[in-house]
Amino acid sequence: MSSEKSIQEIYKSYVATGSVKKFMNDIKAQGIQENDPRLSQIAELTKEREQKEKKVDYENFARRSTPCCGLMKKFSERQFVIPNFEKFTKTIEDLYWRIKPNTTGKNAAYIPQLASIPDYWGISICTVDGQRFQIGDTGNGFSIQSCCKPLNYAIACEYLTSDVVHKFIGQEPSGRMFNEMVLDHNNQPHNPMINSGAIATASLIYTLIDGDQRRSMADKFDMVKTWMERAGGNERFGFNNSIYLSEKEVADRNFALGYFMKENKVFPEKTNMLESLDFYFQLCSIETSAETFSVVASTFANGGVCPLTDEKIFSVDTCRDVLSLMHSCGLYDYSGQFSFNVGLPAKSGVSGVIMLVIPNLAGIVCYSPKLDQHGNSVRGIQFCEELLKTYAIHPYDNLRHTLARRSIYEDK
Ligand code: GLU
Repeated sequence: MSSEKSIQEIYKSYVATGSVKKFMNDIKAQGIQENDPRLSQIAELTKEREQKEKKVDYENFARRSTPCCGLMKKFSERQFVIPNFEKFTKTIEDLYWRIKPNTTGKNAAYIPQLASIPDYWGISICTVDGQRFQIGDTGNGFSIQSCCKPLNYAIACEYLTSDVVHKFIGQEPSGRMFNEMVLDHNNQPHNPMINSGAIATASLIYTLIDGDQRRSMADKFDMVKTWMERAGGNERFGFNNSIYLSEKEVADRNFALGYFMKENKVFPEKTNMLESLDFYFQLCSIETSAETFSVVASTFANGGVCPLTDEKIFSVDTCRDVLSLMHSCGLYDYSGQFSFNVGLPAKSGVSGVIMLVIPNLAGIVCYSPKLDQHGNSVRGIQFCEELLKTYAIHPYDNLRHTLARRSIYEDK
């Protein structure tokens, strides 16, 4: 069916019979939120109609549907990537409640401000079609911490190309603590997902994006934050100043790493190591919520195109590189075990966030500050592993010869 035909069908079955609102309710049942930017013009129409009781003619409806014709087509053909969204979200809800009583683990205490954060628990999902679901404490702000690493790496690759970035940083799991003072056999950080690699990535963005360094630190911070916001469908990103100050105050290890890397000539020429380090602390202190961050995760799942705005944020190659490194190095010293159990790219941060990407399907963000001995959110890891026991989404699952788990795509 062409998009035009879909819009005609929707007009016939909803609008002509007087109910734009019913259309909004039905599309919402499939996971498309009322505040979805793609639907903004239709949502306006609903409001206008409520206020003025005006009849909506086809031309008006078609005009307002044009910016979201792809969405309209998928809706009318029942072609969303998760076809039975209600059943899927019921499964997620069950998992949420099953995991909630698990209060084991401890908040990260080495950044003092993180130690006192309450025992939040939330799960947010955004599919590559922009179907969204939230349960629990998904609107609470958290500092993204290590979850800035894949984003910074992606931004550096977009600006400088992956080849340039990897002249300075490797691609191997280090098999050591995330903040360990160790370099690989080339005297470079093992990968961009651990502290040494992330500090080097911050220095690349900070030093190389404008060789003459005319842009101020404020401009560079805004540039990265704006990029994150675009990846998150232009939703809210802030900055947590107390986390930033707290981290900076106790950052002996990261300062030591900075000097160690400087001594080993890891940084590009003309790097101001201390400023780059400060820039890294700032990026770790960017604040968002699970709701918004799940949109970022879905942008990675969607080959770099934000599902809510259809804007191309990262190239397909950048996404593939980011996801490969998240897959092998995203979860500290649990990365190998996680890749064995779950097989999907994920990144965690010491604030208790885990961003899970199911390529071509969805981004999922779990937030729960209590961490296990590896520094990963206890409930977040449990969720990912239980999800895999429910749905056959491990890349090496075989759907033809298994009855044990369901296919997420055919969950009718
Ligand atoms: N800002 C933290 C640090 O550099 C990030 C650690 C993390 O989340 O893994 O120590």
